[in-house]
Amino acid sequence: MSNLSLILWISVTAQCIAVLLALRLIPLTGRALAWIILSLALLMMAMRRAISLLYQQGTLQDNWLRGFTTESVALLISLLMVTGLIMIRRIFIQQRINDDKIRTLSLAVEQNPGVTIIINTKGKIEYVNSAYCNLSGQMLQEVIGKDPDILDPRHIEQDVLDNIWETLATGEIWEGEVRNIYDDDYQRWENARISPVKNQAHEITHYVILLEDVTEQREQREQLEYMALHDGLTDLPNRTLFNDRLHQAIRSARRDNEPLAVMLMDLNNFKEINDSMGHQVGDEILREIATRLLEIIRGGDTVARMGGDEFLILLPAAKHAKQQQFIKRIRSILDTPFIVAGRSFEISASIGVALFPEDGEEPEILLKRADVAMYAAKNSAESYKRYDRSLDADNVSRMELSQSLRTAVEEDQFELYYQPIVNYTTGTIDTVEALIRWNHPERGLVTPDSFIPLAEQTYQIGAITQWVIKKALQQLASWNSPSAPGISLNISAHDLLDPGLSKFIQAQLTAFHIKASQITIEITESALMMHTHQTLNNLRKLRAIGVKIYIDDFGTGYSSLQYLKRFPVTGLKIDKAFVMNMTNDDNDAIIVRSTTDLAHNMGLKVVAEGIENQDVYDVVEILGCDYAQGFLIARPMTADKLTVWLSNWQTQEHRSGVRLRSIKNHT
Ligand code: C2E
Ligand code: CA
Ligand code: CA
Repeated sequence: MSNLSLILWISVTAQCIAVLLALRLIPLTGRALAWIILSLALLMMAMRRAISLLYQQGTLQDNWLRGFTTESVALLISLLMVTGLIMIRRIFIQQRINDDKIRTLSLAVEQNPGVTIIINTKGKIEYVNSAYCNLSGQMLQEVIGKDPDILDPRHIEQDVLDNIWETLATGEIWEGEVRNIYDDDYQRWENARISPVKNQAHEITHYVILLEDVTEQREQREQLEYMALHDGLTDLPNRTLFNDRLHQAIRSARRDNEPLAVMLMDLNNFKEINDSMGHQVGDEILREIATRLLEIIRGGDTVARMGGDEFLILLPAAKHAKQQQFIKRIRSILDTPFIVAGRSFEISASIGVALFPEDGEEPEILLKRADVAMYAAKNSAESYKRYDRSLDADNVSRMELSQSLRTAVEEDQFELYYQPIVNYTTGTIDTVEALIRWNHPERGLVTPDSFIPLAEQTYQIGAITQWVIKKALQQLASWNSPSAPGISLNISAHDLLDPGLSKFIQAQLTAFHIKASQITIEITESALMMHTHQTLNNLRKLRAIGVKIYIDDFGTGYSSLQYLKRFPVTGLKIDKAFVMNMTNDDNDAIIVRSTTDLAHNMGLKVVAEGIENQDVYDVVEILGCDYAQGFLIARPMTADKLTVWLSNWQTQEHRSGVRLRSIKNHT
């Protein structure tokens, strides 16, 4: 074989191998196909040329290879060449389009305000956009080959980092919120989306990291979460957060076999301060209480505000000594008066305590029992009570009570009791005070102190007051005698805010043919302090028709005598707290004396309530009070009993042992 044919065969074989390799290795893309077609054309051209030469030299005799020298093969080769060239042209055009597209996309990535980072599979940076450069203060060249901050174990928690790499290894996209640090000190929260980039063989070659600043959204979300769990006024945890902590604390207490104390603290005289001094003063006091409580708790304890003037305290691992100490500390922080708006306020509280596990093992039960204990403390005038079973019977849960209150009026469960008020000068009973009682179908007789505040809070007081007014006037009408006493009615501060109150009373007076002068209303100081236009309006109208108006519980609120000048008041009832012990307590006696003198100077009458013994009765008389009311004279009683009692009172020997000095003087 000649050199030429050797070259020919080598070239044919090489071309074939190249084509086969191309087919095998390069996926059959347009570019590869064009390359194959052109190679084939060139190969055929070379073969044709070589075969023609071999024929011309006579090296080849006539055989099938002569077909290669024909014109049709030349035509085929030309066709292949043209096709290949057209394909290549197309490819170039496509390439240009693609290049343009990539340039546009790169520009978009480059200009995107969000950060884009491309890293290789080793985690080293290959590209960052200008947003990254601006934030980090570094140029692209400076960061290439480095680790991105976002995947730096010093900035990101290890388990999050592990989770990222695990997710990416499966070819999935990882998305989540991470804290990132730029330029050593600039921190922000970012929503990161990290996607693997695969080549045509489906192997991961890169990761594209897109970072979007979500700091503001996150802060807003955190703020909302905080607000949902904290009390806006005091910034203390609220009930929801307290419950959460209580659940956790109970779990740990169970595990560690430790006790735990839940305390519920309710301020005793807060409502009066709030009503009389205004909400701003009340709010300031609540904030101050929160601050003082926070000062006395230790790490792990929780103080929360339940709402209103109620606070919750959780003391984990609280053995007996710790609770006692804590109660002492609460007392001591309340001992210091609260100075607000230049005035000094004394605040006391009732605290109920329930212990885990003795008093309950569930959060709700512990809270309920702390509530029961707190109410028992309040009713007993002790500042603190630990829950015990016997308290359950007396302390109807307020919720149950509030529900059954709703039906009490309709089902006629209320009753009026009457307590006589004696006139010091004449010894006669000019007035009886109507005091409501609730004959609860299950609980028996419930006293007003346990349901009137609840009725006020739940806006049910209006209906109750209307019932009291009607019932009392009906009673007056039934006595139908000129010697019968007038009736004094307790009207809540809430009632006075009702624009229809004076009209209602007038309508009832007309309906029962009662003279307005037979009616007295007793209102608390706090009602006056809330002196809205409405309250004043109601009082003026009632006074104008001849209804007497007394300020009840005088001395417990924060009003001054001066203040009374502005209101159409007939007189005041000195609170029993000052009267009951006045023979033993000089301060009380001074208060009663000065109040009486000042009231008289202002032309007001004075009733002393809470007279329980003859000594007090006598001293109060000497001090010049006009009327006396108290257990010494009579306890509140039903209308039937009162009728009998009144007829006995007329005859001197039946005056229940009360020695009426003035009567003696008069008779
Ligand atoms: P209050 O208006 O100060 O009524 C006097 C309270 O003192 C009555 O209690 C009475 O039983 C009690 N009391 C009378 N004399 C003595 C005494 O010598 N010693 C002692 N320790 N206590 C005495 P009660 O009936 O339990 O009423 C409590 C409060 O409930 C009343 O205090 C009043 O604020 C309210 N209340 C009673 N009835 C009504 C009502 O019909 N409507 C409204 N809004 N409140 C009422
Ligand atoms: Ca009263
Ligand atoms: Ca009173």
